[in-house]
Amino acid sequence: MIHGLTTASAALLDRLSLTIQRHPKRLTAAIAAVLLTGGGGAFAVASFAPDPGELPVRMVSYPVESLADNVVLGELDTPGFSLFRSEQVRSSDTPESLLQRMGVADPAAAAFMRGDGTVRQNVLGRSGRVVSAETTDDHRLVRLTVRWVPDDSGNFRRLIVERTGDKFSTRIETAKMTVNSRLAGGVIQSSLFAATDASNIPDAVAVQVAELFSGNIDFRRSLRKGDRFSVVYETLEADGEPLSSGRVLSAEFVNNGKSHEAVWFQEPGASKGAYYSLKGESLRRAYLASPVEFSRVSSGFAMRIHPILKTWRAHLGTDFAAPTGTTVRTVGDGVVEFAGVQNGYGNVVFVKHRNQHVTVYAHLSRIDVRQGQSIEQGQTIGAVGATGWATGPHLHFEFRVNGQHQDPMTMVAQSEAAAPVSAAARPAFDRLASGMRMQLSAAALIEQASAN
Ligand SMILES: [Zn+2]
Repeated sequence: MIHGLTTASAALLDRLSLTIQRHPKRLTAAIAAVLLTGGGGAFAVASFAPDPGELPVRMVSYPVESLADNVVLGELDTPGFSLFRSEQVRSSDTPESLLQRMGVADPAAAAFMRGDGTVRQNVLGRSGRVVSAETTDDHRLVRLTVRWVPDDSGNFRRLIVERTGDKFSTRIETAKMTVNSRLAGGVIQSSLFAATDASNIPDAVAVQVAELFSGNIDFRRSLRKGDRFSVVYETLEADGEPLSSGRVLSAEFVNNGKSHEAVWFQEPGASKGAYYSLKGESLRRAYLASPVEFSRVSSGFAMRIHPILKTWRAHLGTDFAAPTGTTVRTVGDGVVEFAGVQNGYGNVVFVKHRNQHVTVYAHLSRIDVRQGQSIEQGQTIGAVGATGWATGPHLHFEFRVNGQHQDPMTMVAQSEAAAPVSAAARPAFDRLASGMRMQLSAAALIEQASAN
């Protein structure tokens, strides 16, 4: 019956542990209950199927015997069992709610945390900070550790609340994060974020993948069920625990049967790196595929028929529905030709690019640039709103060539790519690319194995 216990769920064991500590006499009954409702039950049913009428009797007698041997008790007492937990701070957390979620029942610790300035300043209200707790086996706090990344220095902070006897103390330490890389992959069932959630891939990585392939794949409209991806990305770890994700180092995305690959590479002497195909072609184009960054929020909104003009074609643009305040960026380098208010457009920005190309961004709630200003691809020019003729918040986007409206998607797809990897950097790039090809295959294998 030990087999049954080890397969019982951790949650059940956890609840059980409280009962055991408070009411040792009820231990046998509790264990029996777990075995009846948990994995042990299923195991027993399978083994004794021929005579179901006798099942309950056998179920109770077995665990009681093994308890008498102290075998099960010994297992329950091991430190890994329930004494160490990790969680994230929520914005609404009080010391009590945070401790309770960590499995700590310790009013003295909660009172100390409520009164401690360092804890109030660095833990309470700081949602997303990673917390771990060590407790005694009667759920009193031994040590609470909170870790976070304060800036881009590569360091993290570690706040420790520690018990010594009946007293608590607080201290803050600074330490270096370690950089690691992680291989991961997924298959699209409903959306990119559903797939990355299932594989425990952070949103920041999902967004990078969508952005770096956006010249080739329309992540808002053309993902298919069964599309799959692999990605290698940096993780920044504090005390062995991932605290944040860094850059995507390489990625492969198979969309509708066609494979797209990318690898991050920095030319020697260049001020920054960029993404290239494994053949060395730049993935960067003269225009971004979208003036609104792909995100969990904006991905949920489909582009739509213009609410006032009622038809798709009549209004000669593309609408990106997104909440008011969502950042709007220029799709290409250029000069601000107009920034202000125009009738139906409301707050609007016109950007003039090379070759008599002009892009238009309308209905903005806010404008962040002024007429005559030079701006770079990706730079913020304002925020989504509903000014002018708009029934709801969205960005109305137009692409004009010599004053004529063009389909923005076509213009972006046809826009020229940046320079490929230089001849001088080619040998270094090829070495990197073949290493990345191997890592991406490994990531795909891991994904297949976990799917099977
Ligand atoms: Zn529109």
